[in-house]
Amino acid sequence: MIPTVTLNNGVQMPQLGFGVFKVAPDECAAAVSEALKVGYRSIDTAAIYKNEEGVGKAIAESGIARDELFVTSKLWNGEQGYDSTLRAFEVSLQKLGLDYLDLYLIHWPTPDRGLYPDTWRAFETLYKDGRIRAIGLSNFQPNHISRILEVGSVVPAVNQIELHPYLTQTQLRKLHHELGIHTEAWSPLGQGLILEDPLILSLADKYERTPAQVVLRWHLQAGTVTIPKSVTPARIRENFEVFDFELDSADAIAIDGLDRAHRTGLDPDTFHGV
Ligand code: NAD
Repeated sequence: MIPTVTLNNGVQMPQLGFGVFKVAPDECAAAVSEALKVGYRSIDTAAIYKNEEGVGKAIAESGIARDELFVTSKLWNGEQGYDSTLRAFEVSLQKLGLDYLDLYLIHWPTPDRGLYPDTWRAFETLYKDGRIRAIGLSNFQPNHISRILEVGSVVPAVNQIELHPYLTQTQLRKLHHELGIHTEAWSPLGQGLILEDPLILSLADKYERTPAQVVLRWHLQAGTVTIPKSVTPARIRENFEVFDFELDSADAIAIDGLDRAHRTGLDPDTFHGV
C-alpha cells in the first residue's frame, strides 16, 4: 500500500509517484507500463514533456480502474492566460485519453509575463466545473503565492518545487504548511547528484539499502509527496521499495543538514521559457 496525503480539499494523493520528465515520447509508454506493473499509481507528466500520449497509452493498456490512478499534468508557460489555459487543458486531456485530471499545475510562474493570475482564474473555472480534482502550482515563490491568494478563491492544493537534500526549501515548506498547501518535491534525487554524497552512501551501508532508497525515505518521512524518475526497470522497482524501513530521526536530521541551497534546475524568479 502506498501512503497517501490528504490535500486541502480532501482529495487523497499517493505520496510516491512516477515522474516522466525527459522520458522520450516513444519510450514513455513502456516506462509508465513498467511503473504501473511495479505498483505506482500516480504519474507526473506535463504538456512540455511531449509524452502525455505515451502516459495515456500505458494507462489505457493497464486495465487499472481510472479511480485507482492519480494523474498530474502541467500547463506550459506559453499557454498562460485565461482562454489559452482552457484550450491547453483540453489538448492535454485529449492526449492523455482521459476525461478528467487528478491534479493540474501551472508549470512555472514566469512573473515577467504577468499572466499567472489570469491563468489561475481559468484553473478555478476548470476545477469548479469538475474537470480537475485538485489544482495547484509549480515553482511558485512566496510572492507569487501571495498574488494567487489575493486574486483567487481556491487555495492551491499543491506547490511542486525542486526539493532534495541539497535544497531543502525550509522557508517555503513552512509557508506551505501555514497556508494548507502540500509540498511536492521534483528532482527528489537531485537528478542523481545527491546519490554520491558521503553521508547518503554511509547511511545506505547502515540500512543495507541503496542511496536512492535512503533519499526517498527521507522525503517520505518529511511528509512531502515525491516523484522520482527512471526508465530502467530495476531502478523503477528500487525506487518503489521504500515502505518497509525507516530512518532514525537523528539520521533524517543529519540529511536535513546537507542543505546548501543548490539548485539543479532553473530559477523560478527569472525563468521565462517560451
Ligand atoms: P530525479 O531526482 O528523479 O532524478 C532522476 C535521475 O536520477 C534519473 O534520470 C537517473 O539518472 C537517476 N536515478 C533515478 N533512480 C535512480 C536509482 N535508483 N539509482 C541511481 N540513479 C537513479 O530527477 P527528475 O527527473 O528531474 O525529477 C523527477 C520528476 O519531477 C520528473 O520526472 C518530473 O516529473 C518532475 N519535475 C518537475 C519539474 C517542474 O518544473 N515542475 C522539473 C523537473 C522535474
